[in-house]
Amino acid sequence: MALDLLTIPCLSDNYAYLIHNPASGQTALVDVPEAAPLLAALSDKGWTLSDILLTHHHWDHIDGVADLLAGLPNRPAVWGAAADAHRLPPLNHALKDGDCVTICSANVQVLDVPGHTVGHIAFHFPDDHLLFSGDSLMVMGCGRLFEGTPAQMHLALSRMAAVPGETLVCSGHEYTSSNIAFALSLEPENPALMLRAKAVKSAREAGRATVPATLAEELETNPFLRAHNPALQSALGLAGAADVDVFTEIRARKDKF
Ligand code: ZN
Ligand code: FE
Repeated sequence: MALDLLTIPCLSDNYAYLIHNPASGQTALVDVPEAAPLLAALSDKGWTLSDILLTHHHWDHIDGVADLLAGLPNRPAVWGAAADAHRLPPLNHALKDGDCVTICSANVQVLDVPGHTVGHIAFHFPDDHLLFSGDSLMVMGCGRLFEGTPAQMHLALSRMAAVPGETLVCSGHEYTSSNIAFALSLEPENPALMLRAKAVKSAREAGRATVPATLAEELETNPFLRAHNPALQSALGLAGAADVDVFTEIRARKDKF
């Protein structure tokens, strides 16, 4: 990987990400829950922020933008969804599904991934195997459906699940422990899930982040990516049902878990 990736805990359980290209000297930030830890990380690394990427409009992903800009000596470019321009901080680059842009001298593909919100986008760096998925695809889970439909989220997850397995899923929150507990309630005998539950437990006990994770791990253990799996379908009493209906049932059960 040509880019350096720094995962920065913010607020109580959010993550923001700094992406640094040592060759070009550029640095991008994905989501801005709060300014202070990000300003500290930039100053610690001696990096100059060139770009701010916003996944969606929720306050815990954008509320730090004004303070961050006020604390910087320069003015980075702000990228976000054109569809949500009315409820995001002022954008320099308004993006839509399928846009291919260059950020930090790297290729970036924009995916529209509605469900958690409409106007939620993901940033895929295909050459660097990074996917910034915000609150759409989350490690061991997916975001709650505040604005979109189960069918929208199912399609969005299917599109993200199609990127190469080695891709790191960089999502917006540390929710993995509770997501694992839910996954185990559905697939208590999934061997990959049992192993992962142990690894996550010891990581959290040691105070380590469980995010990001590879898409390959997610495909084996994240129930929201496994609606096609016959054992999971049977466990839900939905053997042979359409994937979107299985997904809808999994999402409904998680809301009540
Ligand atoms: Zn959100
Ligand atoms: Fe969030």
